[in-house]
Amino acid sequence: MEPNNKIINGKFYAESLLKKIYPLSIQYIEKYKRKPSLAVILLGADPASLIYVKNKIRTAENNNIESIEIPLSIATSERIVLDKIIELNNNPKIDGILVQLPLPKHISEELVIQTISPDKDVDGFHPNNFGKLFMGKPNFIPCTPFGCFYMLKKEIGNLSGKNAVIVGRSNIVGKPMASLLLSSNCTVTITHSKTKNLIDECKKADILIAAIGKPEMINAEYVKKNAVIIDVGINRIKNTNIEITNKKSKLVGDVNYNKVINIVGKITPVPGGVGPMTIACLMHNTLKAAFLNKKDNFIDIIEGIS
Ligand code: NDP
Repeated sequence: MEPNNKIINGKFYAESLLKKIYPLSIQYIEKYKRKPSLAVILLGADPASLIYVKNKIRTAENNNIESIEIPLSIATSERIVLDKIIELNNNPKIDGILVQLPLPKHISEELVIQTISPDKDVDGFHPNNFGKLFMGKPNFIPCTPFGCFYMLKKEIGNLSGKNAVIVGRSNIVGKPMASLLLSSNCTVTITHSKTKNLIDECKKADILIAAIGKPEMINAEYVKKNAVIIDVGINRIKNTNIEITNKKSKLVGDVNYNKVINIVGKITPVPGGVGPMTIACLMHNTLKAAFLNKKDNFIDIIEGIS
């Protein structure tokens, strides 16, 4: 198979998901005379977080979703952040609330997540939503695993009986990803930094999810012939080919794309794979929150793909 046929085009899938969302936002506006709305709290000016928030806000605006950006100084106290969230919880004109992670050290991520109303928790990190996902009755599914799962369903179809190996056990990616794959009858292995014989575990994978945060760690040794790889990693590294692109740094995933491309069945590129899908799924969750907060029906896109 030619390398190009192996690429899972996250941009394409994100656009096709947004095309399904757009008419629903129009329907919402006609019915409720206002746009669905997303409040985004950002503390400080971490360059990566600034870019993520900018992309989320731009996509919201392009899809009839009102975005309310709440920039706070990095020194803002935990109490002020929590009070802001409570104010947004109580505001009926706000449908979704997102607090951009990571947070400065003096603010408890756990407390912030628990303070967001589960009905406005479009990131799906609140314990209520997390628990529902693991019970097989998802409400808001965390956006990154949601996007990965969407692409896997579109590319592979029936996932039943596949060996899925996830490298990384974070609450944001690894664990919810495991729950989604389990609900589709995969045999799931979650690996992490203390896993023995990681290469042997990964080599068993029909589906390999890399969510590690280690640039290009997964190389040919880890990959079974024809495995489908979802590379969640986003790592900025020094560009050693500066004469070609004229940029000092470049983005790479957790998978060494060039080393595995001849072995894999399919793979998501970085950039252009998981990233765009994460934002599209955030729009999906915001629209869902808007309809549900009006006690209206919302046919979850996930139901159409599972
Ligand atoms: P975390 O740092 O929270 O988790 C990383 C996980 O990788 C941990 O479970 C850790 O194990 C495991 N790990 C670290 N080193 C190794 C190793 N040598 N061998 C095996 N496992 C290892 O990261 P996130 O889950 O938040 O993010 C992972 C990556 O995905 C990052 O690159 C991040 O930037 C990216 N990301 C991309 C998103 C997107 O939209 N595309 C969204 C979210 C994240 P242990 O638990 O034992 O420490």
